Amino acid sequence: MAVYDTIVIGAGMAGLTAARDLSTRGHSVLLLEGRDRIGGRTYTTEAFGGQFDLGGGYVHWTQAAVWSELERHGLAHIEPPLESEIYYQLADGKVHTGEIEKTYGLVGKLFEDARQRFPLPWNLTATDNSDINMETMEERINGLGLSKHDTDLIKGVLSGLSHDYKKQGSAQLLFATASNFGNYAAELETAGSWCIPGGMTKLSEAIQSTSKAEVRLNTTVAKVTDNGSGVTVTTSSGEAIQARTVIVAVPLNTMRLLDISPALPESVQAMLDTGNPVRGSKLWIRVRGHITPFSALAPPGEHPLNTMRVEKRWGDDTLILCMISQSDGIKHDDIPAVQAALRKFVPDLEVIDTAWHDWNADEFSRGGWMMHAPRHFLDGAVEIRKGHGRISFAGADIAAMGPCTIEGAMSSGAKAAQQVESTLKGTQ
Ligand SMILES: Cc1cc2nc3c(=O)[nH]c(=O)nc-3n(C[C@H](O)[C@H](O)[C@H](O)COP(=O)(O)OP(=O)(O)OC[C@H]3O[C@@H](n4cnc5c(N)ncnc54)[C@H](O)[C@@H]3O)c2cc1C
Repeated sequence: MAVYDTIVIGAGMAGLTAARDLSTRGHSVLLLEGRDRIGGRTYTTEAFGGQFDLGGGYVHWTQAAVWSELERHGLAHIEPPLESEIYYQLADGKVHTGEIEKTYGLVGKLFEDARQRFPLPWNLTATDNSDINMETMEERINGLGLSKHDTDLIKGVLSGLSHDYKKQGSAQLLFATASNFGNYAAELETAGSWCIPGGMTKLSEAIQSTSKAEVRLNTTVAKVTDNGSGVTVTTSSGEAIQARTVIVAVPLNTMRLLDISPALPESVQAMLDTGNPVRGSKLWIRVRGHITPFSALAPPGEHPLNTMRVEKRWGDDTLILCMISQSDGIKHDDIPAVQAALRKFVPDLEVIDTAWHDWNADEFSRGGWMMHAPRHFLDGAVEIRKGHGRISFAGADIAAMGPCTIEGAMSSGAKAAQQVESTLKGTQ
């Protein structure tokens, strides 16, 4: 029976990177993927007669792992959205314009301690942040003592990334801001502006094209057992596959369903038990005509669409991209409902069509991008990256640099590959 050097579970950006790195350095690697495709929470598909990203789609030249991969494959030419000429903001039940500068001032106050708390972004535990370890975003926002109007302005501008403020902790966003020069607007540009023409599938396929790993799609893993001298990976159909090491590169909300033994450390298990609270999705909307480029921001819970932005022209029409805090807050194919939600800001818009993917209902993600609940970003996520015997972990959900992003997935995949190589050296 074949014994692989490493089995990588999950062919998202983290697993693809780890499998490619190990296999091209001479190790035998089996990459197991539950879906019938690679890419995970990046997903480019046909919509409106073109190719569109329904999952992760934005990257940036400041992201070291992403950019070097794009350069390597001749893909280092990315596109920004149309520049918004007007910002609409829902606050205290009314739509306002002309308040975006003020809003960034308020967000500056919200994150003013970001760089003191995380002066060395590559070393998360360089300073003692125990006083904010359990802090929710809600507590941090309320700590500013603002009016409902100003609180709504803040919640609207954060809503593209974070939206369940009572469940999500403050540490991850403070860290993300710190690692973007202490500037939340820079964090937003990095996380949500520039896309790859043709879609993110270009990047996943480019990584895969240089890999020597054996890939099995439609193979869901149920169990991972480190028996001291090797690891047995058992699929949901009962097949047992042997390897010297394993990299688990699946989302937190599916990792928690894996039967992993020996038992994980308490802080890691606590993080898995809590899971990823993000229930958001991304909705593309095609509207008739060339409308004035705008952005609109609405606090979660106060409107079915949260961050809306005119993205690009599409023939004679225009495409708007929306981030939605609660996927079940609106039905994407209920065109009159989507149109009514947009008309709150621009009354004469005419919606023609929409495109989206429900990441919450998807059994291989069971949620959106990662925003840690209190405690886990500085605790379980740090612990899990140390590895667990012959089992290593990777993924954007547990990444140190670029948590919740494609960059985080790729850099954590590369790190897990290095960790596994050390394990292999020590045990062969
Ligand atoms: C709507 C949306 C928009 C986003 N926008 C951006 C963005 O613009 N920019 C950005 O940087 N990031 C964005 N993100 C986040 C980014 O897409 C993810 O953080 C990143 O792609 C995750 O990569 P990963 O490899 O860690 O995990 P995944 O991509 O989730 O890959 C894990 C893989 O494991 C597989 N799997 C799961 N369970 C099992 C199992 N039991 N057995 C076998 N296989 C299994 C899954 O099918 C999947 O292929 C967005 C995410 C979403 C959902």
